[in-house]
Amino acid sequence: MNLYIVTGGAGFIGSNFIRYLLQKEKDSKFIVYDSLTYSGLPFNLFPFLKRENIFVVSFGKDFFKLEKSKVKGYKKVYSKKDLQKEIDKFILKGDRVLLVVASITNLEPLKVIMSFTDNLFHFAAETHVDRSIIYPHRFVFTDVIGTYFLLYAFKEINGQRGKFLHISTDEIYGEILKGKAKENSPFYPSSPYSASKAGADRLVYSFYKTYSLPVIIVRPSNVFGERQFPEKFIPLSIMKILMKEKIPLYGDGKQKRSWIYQEDAVRGIYLIFKKGKIGEEYNLPGNTELENVRVAEIICDLAGVEKEKFIEFVKDRPAHDRRYSLDGSKLFSLGFKYNWNFSDAIKRTFEFYKENFKFYKKLLKEKKVKKFMDIWYSNLKKKDEV
Ligand code: NAD
Repeated sequence: MNLYIVTGGAGFIGSNFIRYLLQKEKDSKFIVYDSLTYSGLPFNLFPFLKRENIFVVSFGKDFFKLEKSKVKGYKKVYSKKDLQKEIDKFILKGDRVLLVVASITNLEPLKVIMSFTDNLFHFAAETHVDRSIIYPHRFVFTDVIGTYFLLYAFKEINGQRGKFLHISTDEIYGEILKGKAKENSPFYPSSPYSASKAGADRLVYSFYKTYSLPVIIVRPSNVFGERQFPEKFIPLSIMKILMKEKIPLYGDGKQKRSWIYQEDAVRGIYLIFKKGKIGEEYNLPGNTELENVRVAEIICDLAGVEKEKFIEFVKDRPAHDRRYSLDGSKLFSLGFKYNWNFSDAIKRTFEFYKENFKFYKKLLKEKKVKKFMDIWYSNLKKKDEV
């Protein structure tokens, strides 16, 4: 049996990764470690995750309080011993996914889970650039300090055993107006999100250099597909159209992104975990580069609505990078190939949000999500600076 820890496994890429691996490795089991922020949803792991396998950690010290509405109704564990017992029971059962609800900034439960396995995928992060402009401290605490606690716990419990796969991002290189960033290109992060991820990326590397921790770093470009929280560009655009509202586009809408479908992205991550070299970084580029306005037009076409009526240009966000681009030679040398083209994958994504429209509409209307969106977009519609 292969037992994996997946931090941030209730989020978009983490949950799709678990779904992929549940199929790929029939005898694998997963300890998901996630604090269920606004973008972490047990729904993403259903039906593989059963309610009785969700445990809310009520011990240890943390900077963040778990959100009451997200943890209501789940079983609580009040000590390290309790958590150990529950994981022991889970390992003996036939179930394959267990969710420990706690933050990566809480060291005590991290140490407990590390004692069960030394194979770890680190997806947990605050991930939305727009939010990082309004709440930068959250990004520093989770993405930098949380990653540090994770590395520290891994080192204390596992030392140099196993593998620690860290998910970084293409955004750490900053905007690449021409050409492609290689793994050894310099970092010029522009937002508090990308700067925090850049800090985390180098902290992970420092634990390899200093303590020989068995780390591998993956830097994906823009991922899209099912189960992405609908504040991000593609699902937001789809939801806006389905709600008969306009798609908001920043500035002139000509920012370029390189897109990779989630199924290709999670396959790439797994391949790097299996075949990548310890201590190395791997870019995971997309296979389709498009201007944002073109993506919005494609979504209008899929919905059968007129682009002119459903696309609205709003003020650009501060420090908005014009283009990201990754060189994927290192990944391709491991044998990676894409299975999906953009047009098939976007159709599939569109259908997913259409089928789950009510669920995602409700999410967008939740008090805290709505509050963020209202502040953010009303500022962008004003004439003066945000
Ligand atoms: P997401 O926002 O959907 O998921 C993040 C998950 O982390 C959520 O489940 C959330 O609850 C959890 N989390 C947040 N703070 C936490 C904390 N303090 N403790 C424990 N869990 C916490 O994001 P995603 O798109 O799935 O991104 C996953 C990873 O991939 C991130 O590290 C992100 O930086 C990276 N990445 C994403 C993309 C993309 O296009 N989505 C591209 C490149 C890299």
